[in-house]
Amino acid sequence: MPPSPSKKSQSPTLSAIADPEARAHSSRLTAPVSAVPFVGPERSKALEEIGVLTIGDLLEFFPRRYLDRTRVVRIRDFQLSEQEITAVGTITFVRVMRSRRGRQWLVAGVDDGSGTMQCIWFQGVSYWQKQLRVGEQIAVSGVLGDKDGWQLIHPAVDRLGEDGDRELFNTGRIISLYHGTLQLRKVGLESATMRRIIRAALNIALEEIEEFFSPAELAVIGAHPRAKAFERIHFPESQNDLYAAWQRIRYEELFFYQLLFAYRRYFNRQQAGGVAFEHVGPLTKKVLDALPFKLTDGQREVLTEIRKDLQSPVPMQRLLQGEVGSGKTVVALLAMAMAADSGYQSAMMAPTELLATQHARTMLAPAEAAGLKTRLLVGKQKAAERRELLAAIAAGQADIVIGTHALIGDKVEFPRLGLVIIDEQHRFGVEQRTILRSKGTRPHLLLMTATPIPRTLRLSHVGDLDISSLRDMPGGARRVKTIVRTGAERNKVYQFLVEQAKSGQKAFIVCPLIEESETAETEAAVEYHQRVSMGALKDIKVGLLHGQMKQAEKAAALEKFRNGETPVIVATPVVEVGVDMPDATIMLIENPERFGLAALHQLRGRIGRKGQAAYCVLIPGPKITPEAEARLKAIQETTDGFVIAEKDLALRGSGEFFGTRQSGDIELRYCDPVRDEQLLVAARDKAFAMVEADPQLERKPLLRERFQQKHAHKLEFLKAG
Ligand code: ADP
Ligand code: MG
Repeated sequence: MPPSPSKKSQSPTLSAIADPEARAHSSRLTAPVSAVPFVGPERSKALEEIGVLTIGDLLEFFPRRYLDRTRVVRIRDFQLSEQEITAVGTITFVRVMRSRRGRQWLVAGVDDGSGTMQCIWFQGVSYWQKQLRVGEQIAVSGVLGDKDGWQLIHPAVDRLGEDGDRELFNTGRIISLYHGTLQLRKVGLESATMRRIIRAALNIALEEIEEFFSPAELAVIGAHPRAKAFERIHFPESQNDLYAAWQRIRYEELFFYQLLFAYRRYFNRQQAGGVAFEHVGPLTKKVLDALPFKLTDGQREVLTEIRKDLQSPVPMQRLLQGEVGSGKTVVALLAMAMAADSGYQSAMMAPTELLATQHARTMLAPAEAAGLKTRLLVGKQKAAERRELLAAIAAGQADIVIGTHALIGDKVEFPRLGLVIIDEQHRFGVEQRTILRSKGTRPHLLLMTATPIPRTLRLSHVGDLDISSLRDMPGGARRVKTIVRTGAERNKVYQFLVEQAKSGQKAFIVCPLIEESETAETEAAVEYHQRVSMGALKDIKVGLLHGQMKQAEKAAALEKFRNGETPVIVATPVVEVGVDMPDATIMLIENPERFGLAALHQLRGRIGRKGQAAYCVLIPGPKITPEAEARLKAIQETTDGFVIAEKDLALRGSGEFFGTRQSGDIELRYCDPVRDEQLLVAARDKAFAMVEADPQLERKPLLRERFQQKHAHKLEFLKAG
């Protein structure tokens, strides 16, 4: 669609490119699926339910998996190995088995003409019982076992439909398999039929699929042109052909994804209108002078970067990453002092009350020395106190406001909010950050995290942020030695703890992480505490810290630990979050195999914080998985958080890396930022260059149309982020 004149304004706005009115001109691609042979009302309805409305949608209903005939093994030729194998055969029986203790499992027999095997399910028995029909063709994949004959336990199953056999052995080598829902199956839309209707849809509309990337670009990444990609992704002729088809699809996905980042950055700059802090100086200097230490080189460097951003009217969007204990809080304080120098307020949000309180306490002395008013806003304050606080903030009498989620409440109003800081940013959703920012007029934003984001994921997940990294530690590199001990050696470890405590050291004992419930975790900690304080650690005083204690109790327990009254503290994994105990030098972690690598590293970061020698002792349970083994190995070998982050990514895969997804994140459907890193970089360069050169995409009408139809609506949330 040619852009209308009004959209050609010199300073393009978000709404112009994200025009919701933009419609595709009608074409065969936009015709309803019912226009395809073999698709009647029932099938169109079932397709509609999975979001397939038009012929174009149908062509974009990509296969979930493929079956490569050349990789199917005849049962006769089975051999034990660790590799996954695939077999294709007919279901001969489906039987529910029951042990004397009432345990159920399902066995299905499969015969491929050369031999027989069994597929076994211990879980989802009734589900699979309904799914599997005697006489049906299926493909099963898994790692082979051989108890009483060949077995696959919980194999991946693909149903091939009635004509699966003929197709599989007489036609194409690689067969596409589609995601099936019960609904689809009811109307006969199994993979074989899907292939047939997609073939028909291609016949109707293939020639209308137009390319919007240049041949040269596609050549570099080894991708088919768009139309060919759409055909071959459903009907590949070889593995290479399939690869080229997917390359095209992936490149497009990554390109549009990066285009969103490019726009977010672009609009951030275009609309500037933020506040430039012009007077960075006297107050900042006073705070600096009041600090009991000198800044590290790293802190100075990141502050220079931050100051440059703050002095510009383009709102800062910066992520500060630095390990636990690298001194991010002071950086935050100085940035807030810079805001105050220009007469602006700052708000800093932390994920827990404990942390917010701790920040406020740390900042109070140096801030007051400079005459800055610091206030703490948390959920549990009394009504009168809260009223007074809100009034003070609204009257501009608070320069620095530190708080929890309470900060985003509607009653909190800032007259001059110029800087927003989010500590442990991954613990907040995009919306929460957005709400806080909306309390000012395009304030500067500083996000902080103790879990460095691996390089590849930075492009894909925070592609529009500037990054500052604190790579050094106050007091020099950590000297924490990490060792693994068995349960049998636990008493020796306790003995060591007692000796160390008697000579003035402090130790954390971290109880097992219990995913299911905080209550169970608490009970375990209480029980552990009781056991050791009456047993192995009875000669010293042992404190207790868990998530269900009241705020005041927590504070008291921490205080006793801080002043040495209880030199050992038994804690649930809550200590992971931000507790600052510079004197602690020992940490015993029970069942470390239950923690992720980043979490273990965070925990360990609680000790040896002054650069003194420290010990982290891990006592894993008796049975651990190879993955857990790999994590424990990595944590022993590496102390650099940036290296840990890369290893964590390598071990977990990118899908799992951000444990809880940040709400508002846009998911990649076909790409893996790690596997597709090169493609990602190419797509990013292209997208950013294009937005610079032609922000309205006037020179690329096809691409513009596609963007408006499928992606522009995502700018809505990105706009504010
Ligand atoms: P984190 O980056 O984990 O938030 P903190 O800001 O809590 O780290 O800092 C950890 C500890 O290091 C605190 O006790 C803080 O006072 C101290 N610290 C910060 N910067 C310095 C410095 N330049 N020199 C000495 N100690 C510092
Ligand atoms: Mg911190």
